[in-house]
Amino acid sequence: METIVAPITPLVTSAVIILRVSGEKAFDCVDNLILPGGRHLERGNIKFRHVYTGSFIDSDGSVLDEVVFYFFKSPASYTGENVLEISFHGNPQIVRKALSVIYEKGIRAAEPGEFTKRAFLNGKLDLTQAESVASLIESKTDKGIYYSFRQLKGSLSKKVIDIKNSLVDISSVIEAYVDFPEDDLSDHDVDFVTQKLSDVLDDISKLIESYKKHRYQREGLKIVIVGKPNVGKSSLLNSLLEEERAIVSEIPGTTRDFIEEVISIKGIPVRLMDTAGLRGDGDVIESRGIEKARDKIEDADIVLVVIDLSNEIDAEDRKILEMTENKNRIVLGNKDDLANDVSGSAKSLIELSVSAKYRTNFKLLEDMIYSRVCSDDSELYAGEIITTERHVALLKNLYDILISVKDKIISEHLDLISIDMGMALDIVSEFTGEKYTEEILDNIFEKFCLGK
Ligand code: GDP
Ligand code: ZN
Repeated sequence: METIVAPITPLVTSAVIILRVSGEKAFDCVDNLILPGGRHLERGNIKFRHVYTGSFIDSDGSVLDEVVFYFFKSPASYTGENVLEISFHGNPQIVRKALSVIYEKGIRAAEPGEFTKRAFLNGKLDLTQAESVASLIESKTDKGIYYSFRQLKGSLSKKVIDIKNSLVDISSVIEAYVDFPEDDLSDHDVDFVTQKLSDVLDDISKLIESYKKHRYQREGLKIVIVGKPNVGKSSLLNSLLEEERAIVSEIPGTTRDFIEEVISIKGIPVRLMDTAGLRGDGDVIESRGIEKARDKIEDADIVLVVIDLSNEIDAEDRKILEMTENKNRIVLGNKDDLANDVSGSAKSLIELSVSAKYRTNFKLLEDMIYSRVCSDDSELYAGEIITTERHVALLKNLYDILISVKDKIISEHLDLISIDMGMALDIVSEFTGEKYTEEILDNIFEKFCLGK
């Protein structure tokens, strides 16, 4: 395999830029590394995992930079190959020159994800672990990082191996009969296989469920703020953002367009959207905005219905309450600081009183939002989380096959079951990458950033 090189830090002006060289020719670079005192480092004398300081020289011997470098010997490296990492001062110009010196040795630029791909091909990581490297880097929330890290440590792979072991157990029972077509499955074996299948199907559907439940971890939780004009929607959005970005105005109904901002509530990315004031009737200019607002309400995970506590609840408020009745909503009384004693029946509708202006009860509001989507979080935290489209597609496939196996147990089509079980085991192998195609690998690794 060719030797490859790439910056593993961004190639921008910064404190340091680190180049990683991986492959058989990695240690050829010692020719360009001079130790303090002008000594050359001999290839045979390299101390691995030892931090050296020295100079990086170009082809005609002039010093390009003072560098820090260290070597890893195959297979004890990230990629499983010989690896050299050189840390330069963070000037991209210096590093580009160094790269061209390295290219002259027949070492080529690495493609995005190529280091991790090699780690996979050399058995340092299985496929789910390799995929978690990308999600770990991309995760925007504490939880995303937590799950990716667990996956990197192999927790999902372990779960998949458990599933595989159960499938192997089932298969061995079936295979024992396939060779003796005159025998029927014993009651004991039918029970065993059926029970195992149910357990596995249960595990798989939990995994598929975890993907759905964590949709908002990937895509963000969609929250729409609705209410009639002037109740304080934009102020609420602004205060939640803790900066003034939506347009706040004294004139009712000036938020024509939808303003969307992303905030983080307890580690969940939240897409917060302000809508034009909803009005039941009349205003032509606003009506288009209202139609759009209806769509946004349909689409939202949570709707914040804002009511102005400084005024009596009126027909317009009631209309909006009606419109959102079947949604996962939180009815907020805003302008708590100006609140008159709001009359009885209306008050009972309000779930939380806040002041967008003075940011009172925001902590409670965030708790409330969080608990609306994460009530069963502790259970999910303990279980495995499926985070990629590829995994969920494989699991759905597996689920369907095993359901049909379950049906066939009843009708005792053992030869067909044997074929199904073979397919099921193939899917499991694709999961961790025991079986893979170039296409699968390309799909996974092309999404990586350069240097990973
Ligand atoms: P929107 O039309 O629903 O988006 O309402 P705005 O956010 O533009 O607010 C309308 C007016 O109410 C502005 O003058 C805000 O300063 C004021 N306002 C909003 N929230 C509060 C609050 O909690 N207390 C007080 N006293 N005024 C508020
Ligand atoms: Zn507004």
